[in-house]
Amino acid sequence: MTMITNHMPTAELQALDAAHHLHPFTHGHDLNKKGVRVITRANGVTLTDSDGNEMLDAMAGLWCVNLGYGRDELAEAAARQMKELPYYNTFFQTTHVPAIALSEKIASLTPYDLNHTFFASSGSEANDTNIRLVRTYWAEKGQPERKIIISRMNAYHGSSMGSASLGGMVPMHEQGDMPIENIHHIGQPHWYAEGGDMDPEEFGLMRARELEEKIEELGPEKVAAFIGEPIQGAGGVIIPPKSYWPEIQRICDKYGILLIADEVICGFGRTGDWFASESFGIKPHIMTIAKGLSSGYAPIGGSVVCDEVADVLNGCEFSHGYTYSGHPVSCAVALENLRILDEEGIVERAGKETAPYLKGKWEALADHPLVGEAKIQGLMGSIALTPHKESRAAFAADKGTAGLICREHCFANGLVMRHVGDRMVISPPLVITKDEVDMLADRAWKALDLAHKQLEDEGLMKAAS
Ligand SMILES: *Cc1c(COP(=O)(O)O)cnc(C)c1O
Repeated sequence: MTMITNHMPTAELQALDAAHHLHPFTHGHDLNKKGVRVITRANGVTLTDSDGNEMLDAMAGLWCVNLGYGRDELAEAAARQMKELPYYNTFFQTTHVPAIALSEKIASLTPYDLNHTFFASSGSEANDTNIRLVRTYWAEKGQPERKIIISRMNAYHGSSMGSASLGGMVPMHEQGDMPIENIHHIGQPHWYAEGGDMDPEEFGLMRARELEEKIEELGPEKVAAFIGEPIQGAGGVIIPPKSYWPEIQRICDKYGILLIADEVICGFGRTGDWFASESFGIKPHIMTIAKGLSSGYAPIGGSVVCDEVADVLNGCEFSHGYTYSGHPVSCAVALENLRILDEEGIVERAGKETAPYLKGKWEALADHPLVGEAKIQGLMGSIALTPHKESRAAFAADKGTAGLICREHCFANGLVMRHVGDRMVISPPLVITKDEVDMLADRAWKALDLAHKQLEDEGLMKAAS
């Protein structure tokens, strides 16, 4: 690959970034002291930075580049659409071909009768839509008092006021007075960290039954919906026990509340099926989509709703929408992305061939002395770092200290793996080859070795009491 050097030296780019660019989820002063990493180009699963270093991107950007980098067809689809119709809205009795074609394509891929898409430009916007959508649905059905949405602690549903309120991230809630009204949270199905001596399946059932307890506590006539990620992503790739989702489904059915599956990460092949709702046997009324919908090549998200919800919603004027709902360029790019994922059999191959191969390599990391568990479903996996394998102990040091040390060794050794507290997570592009999976596992093991040594040298291999 030729290296493009038509940019300023890294130090100058870093100085300008520090001077003018505020970063999401970042302590600015700390970052500016260290100097930011400048990514300049990417191809397949490989990123290149401004110094010419190459890294295997085991995170697919932010869980989104399912198709991998460098597919010219998507660039061409965007250019074609920009020349023909760069923008038009879908308000006021108008539509355009890309929005029509994409909503039809989504309906053909989603399971059950999830046949209708309300477009947004991100997962956060789509979940904000969902809050207003479910409340409007119940008001139209003559039950306006059904306003409460129940979610889980350590869930991630986005960063706007509404979606962050749905989320269960305490540091987010602490900034900006969240959650907003009528959103409640129950415990998460995170057996490794919270299951103690319980059997994982028993624990899964117990956590699901917290939904029933919460509904009874709040009043069943006031509850509108439950929202959950089939597998929690940003919370640390928490794969729930098998017992969990069927029990959640039973409770939603029993009380007749709407079930929202947030498939922003899980959708479009990530878990080995087109949608995780299929992998887990969840039958949602509403699905949130974004990220893999366009493989991150253009911003787009949406709420996909079932026939009955669409029918009720269509019975009123839903006073909601974004200037860029169904943006034609994003729709054209998403459509081309889905065409390729589908026609090249990428989702199918990821589920049937790559996932089992990666599973073997990933689960072998559980043999490392620093690793308490290694879990994976499809192409999303996590490992828990621990100072004491047998007891699944947390570190005595501040949460995230070991994780950050490990992440730094990953980066230094050509692997982008993210840390969530002291869990390391991966979500590589679906097109990753077996050779690249080998490389991923080798580099991960090496980073674990180096992190282990550093933690020992610094006296940090101590369990929290
Ligand atoms: C990333 C994410 C979101 C938010 O999507 P944005 O496009 O960042 O607004 C919502 N839900 C889940 C499960 C996510 O992982």
